[in-house]
This record gives sequence, structure tokens and C-alpha cells, in this order.
Amino acid sequence: MVAEKVVHHVVTRPGRLHGHQDYDIPVAEALVTEPGIRKNNEDVSFYTRVYPLESQNIEKAADREWVWSVYTPEVREYREEHDRVNQPLVDAAMVTGEIEPTGVPEIGKDMTDAIRLRARELGFGEVGFTRFDRHYAYQSKRRWIKYEHAICVALEQDYWQTQTIPSLDAEFAHFGTYEMEGAMGLQLAAYIRELGYHAQVHSPNDNSAAYIPMFVQAGLGQLGANGQLLSPHFGSRSRLMIITTDAPVTYDEPVDYGIHQFCQECQVCVNRCPGRALVKEKVWWRGVEKNKLIYDRCRPVMARYEGCAVCMKVCPVQRYGMKPVMEHYVETGEVLGKGTDNLEGYELRDKGYFGPGKLPKFDRQFFDIPHGTKEEWLFEEFKAKLQSETKPSQDEVMDFVSELDEILAVGHTTRGDE
Ligand code: SF4
Ligand code: SF4
Repeated sequence: MVAEKVVHHVVTRPGRLHGHQDYDIPVAEALVTEPGIRKNNEDVSFYTRVYPLESQNIEKAADREWVWSVYTPEVREYREEHDRVNQPLVDAAMVTGEIEPTGVPEIGKDMTDAIRLRARELGFGEVGFTRFDRHYAYQSKRRWIKYEHAICVALEQDYWQTQTIPSLDAEFAHFGTYEMEGAMGLQLAAYIRELGYHAQVHSPNDNSAAYIPMFVQAGLGQLGANGQLLSPHFGSRSRLMIITTDAPVTYDEPVDYGIHQFCQECQVCVNRCPGRALVKEKVWWRGVEKNKLIYDRCRPVMARYEGCAVCMKVCPVQRYGMKPVMEHYVETGEVLGKGTDNLEGYELRDKGYFGPGKLPKFDRQFFDIPHGTKEEWLFEEFKAKLQSETKPSQDEVMDFVSELDEILAVGHTTRGDE
């Protein structure tokens, strides 16, 4: 029985790549909520002031070190190689804010079109402009961020490699895209300097802020129930980066793609998550209404199964694109691919294949991982020893002190963003 829906509005976006035709997405009346995301600005400001955001590289440093102990040898080898190749790009981005422009600016000229064109020519699939919203800046990066305007760019990762998630092949797509994006960001920044302005590259592997809210504000997509930016052409199959600048630009507007209501009806990622880490109901979190991922249910799966990302793989917007998904919804009132192996099936190494309605099982120990910063975790383990019947020996006390010393000397950070 076909339950055709009334179209409320059509969103027109540029084609997937530079030179491609425009892309029209019909949004059914039944899916309309509001442009961008529902939020309460007073609450956002309050949380920023009292509980500022911090990078997972710092806040979650203990488990980010731990993951290396459970990687397969192949993943470990590839991650080490990626870090070796990528580190010079991260280092180069770090100092871009200090580099002076090489050209002379044309006074009074808006630079939006020139920058957007160059970004598209370089290969970025989505490009948008907004204010760099310091509410979402990480505490440790606040002083580093120099310029007011944010250029939000997304680089698509390989389609077919992504459909093999979770796999080493998909990790090649994931980390390989970061490597390309890091280099392309430096090229775009050099171009902005030629126009006569400063440009600071926020490396996609050393994030300065929570980026998705700014991408939403720039109209490049909406937040999905999987906690990822769903953009028109590739859903969440992309890697995000920001460049800040003092070039005069015009900000884009947030868009209602119908994603908030669509996710409530779809729920495929929520139902297919092997770690049961995604939650059906939205909650208010730091002043924003969203589906909040349970980190401790996700991380153990990600670490052991090649980055997992089943929630990316099974999303129809990733798999088929937003236009076919929304057209199908208008025609039938249904979610394209829902309930099919084509969309929902995945294979977990040593566990087998899981089709619609089937999920793997893990025992409780599987979810025991270190928490917090490295020193917090060290204290927690030491406290457990003190509370146990066999008190720590003198040597163990000395080991604790020297390990703590080492952590504090090196600082809080660990390896880059994933
Ligand atoms: S990465 Fe895997 S475990 Fe984590 S939320 Fe996505 S599907 Fe669930
Ligand atoms: S799988 Fe469905 S519910 Fe999950 S993010 Fe994609 S569209 Fe939303």
C-alpha cells in the first residue's frame, strides 16, 4: 500500500563534485521540523561557561591509549603507518595561523565565491561558511584559534571501501581520506593567503572544536541519530575539516533537510549497532536536542572491529544519497532499503554475518575499558589496589609515582583525532 506524502519544500544543493548538476531534495511535509537543529542558546552558553568542551584526545586519553592494545596486528601496522604519514600535515596545520598573506586584498570585495570555487576545484564535496562558534571550541584550543569566520569543508571517502565496513579496507578509506584532506586544506589556505588574507587550518586529526554544529549552521547537513553529519550526497561518508580566516565572506544559512523526523522513523543505525550504543529517543544535551551516543558501549566495538562504523554503513543516506531516500519517502512513506540485507547486513570478523534483526553478542568484560584521562585512570587503578586485600608493594608505589611523573611531564595529549 503506497502512502504518498505531500512535498513541503525542495532543497537545491550543488552537485556532488565541481561541474556536476544541481541536486534537488524534496522534503515531505511529514518530516518538517526546523532548519539546522533545535537548541536553547542560553543553555549552550551556560554549559560552555561552566563545563567547557574538551578534546577526546585529552578527556578520553586513557582509552585512546588502550585501543592500541586490542588492535589486530594489521590495524596496528596500518595505524602506525598512517600516523607517520599524517603527522607532518598535522604539524604544518598547527602553525598556519601565524603565516602572513602573500597577496594584496581587494578592498571591499566579498571572497565567498572565490574560496568556494577553489575548494570545489580541489575536490571538496561540501563547502559552507559560518561564524566560528567558540561555544563549541575545546578548552585547550581556545587561545590557538585566531580568526572569526569558519570555512567548513567535507571530503567524501571511497564508496565501495566504505560498504565493506567494518574492515581494514574501510579503514584505508577512512584514514586515507584524512591524509588527502590534510594536504588539500593546506592548499586551500595557501590560496586564501594569495587573495590577501590569513587562513588557519584546523587539522581533521587535531580538532579544535566540535565541528558538526558549525557544519549544520552552514547548511551542509543535519545531525543524524548516529551522531554524525548527514550531508546531501554522501550522508556521513566524509571527513570534516575547518579553515578559519579573516577574509570577508557571507555566511550560509542552516537548512531543514527533514533529517530529524526521518531519523525518528528510520532508526536503522539504532537497531543495527553491534554495541547497542545508540539510543532511540532524543535528549537535551548541553542545550541541544539530539540522539546521544553511549561512548562506553561504542568504544570497545570500534577498537576491536576495525573502527566499526556500522552506524555509517547502514545509514540509507550514506548508502543511496539523500535525494533518492527522500524521493522514496515522498512516494511511499517508507525508508529506502530498511529491512533489506543490502542496507542492514554486515559481517564481524570471528562472529559471522548479521542480517536484519540479528545482532552479535558480547560478554560484560568486553565493555570494561579504561576511563578518563591517563592520570585519572592511573589513580583509579591505584585506588583499587589500595582497597584490595593485598596492598600495593613498595615497588608498585614507586611504579605509580614514576608513571604519574611521566604522564604529567609529557602532557595530556595522546595520538591524533580519529
Ligand atoms: S561505531 Fe559501531 S558500536 Fe559505535 S555507535 Fe557506531 S555502530 Fe555502534
Ligand atoms: S540510519 Fe536512519 S536513523 Fe540512523 S542516521 Fe541514518 S537516517 Fe538517521
